[in-house]
Amino acid sequence: MASVEIRNVRKAFGPVQVLHGVNVDIADGEFVVLVGPSGCGKSTLLRMLAGLENITSGEIAIGPRVVNNVPPKDRDIAMVFQNYALYPHMTVFDNMAFSMKLAKAPREVMEQEVGRAAKILGLEALLQRYPRQLSGGQRQRVAMGRAIVRNPQVFLFDEPLSNLDAKLRVQMRAEIKELHQRLRVTTVYVTHDQIEAMTMADKIVVMNGGHVEQAGPPLELYDRPANLFVAGFIGSPA
Ligand code: ADP
Ligand code: MG
Repeated sequence: MASVEIRNVRKAFGPVQVLHGVNVDIADGEFVVLVGPSGCGKSTLLRMLAGLENITSGEIAIGPRVVNNVPPKDRDIAMVFQNYALYPHMTVFDNMAFSMKLAKAPREVMEQEVGRAAKILGLEALLQRYPRQLSGGQRQRVAMGRAIVRNPQVFLFDEPLSNLDAKLRVQMRAEIKELHQRLRVTTVYVTHDQIEAMTMADKIVVMNGGHVEQAGPPLELYDRPANLFVAGFIGSPA
């Protein structure tokens, strides 16, 4: 696993500045939730961690290594998106093995790694099914399986549950949390849902308009919000 440091990171798209010097420290094995209203820059920050978006200025380190110029595939991270589109024409096994197939891993390594992830996620009986033969929760699990087989140092989640109905969302929240307790992989989880943040995070980072309003454990933010924005967002009276 690895720590993650985001140091004074700025991002501009052309003339538009969307991140204004963001600092976040994430400890090895920590589950950090980035929250904030739509458009505040959560996805942009996550995409920069993944290497899918370049950094205008500042630094991102994963473990001891500054990764600003490291391509996504060499960053030891795995990302689960909101639209976790599985390949419809591939079985669950092939969906999960896809990145290893690209890397030309031997068949027995693929079987071993997919088997391990399937066991963790309770997908063993579903490996030969196609995505259309799965429930929403099962598909979400396959998307996580694709991330797990890569043995990443860091998991990145971008609103992974926002397309699921309320009941399934509660269940998958618990499953992701349990997965983290089991694997202890450093996790950065983006949501705009404060309940998700409060229930899942070791540390919450509250963002607003491209900067960090406050970062701390859920109870600290709840008990001692730094300002009215945090108080309003976390839902406690100021
Ligand atoms: P969030 O995930 O918090 O909803 P985003 O990171 O997606 O916010 O977006 C932050 C801001 O950056 C928004 O104003 C958005 O319109 C803008 N933005 C995101 N991606 C691009 C892009 N590729 N080009 C221009 N503006 C972008
Ligand atoms: Mg977003």
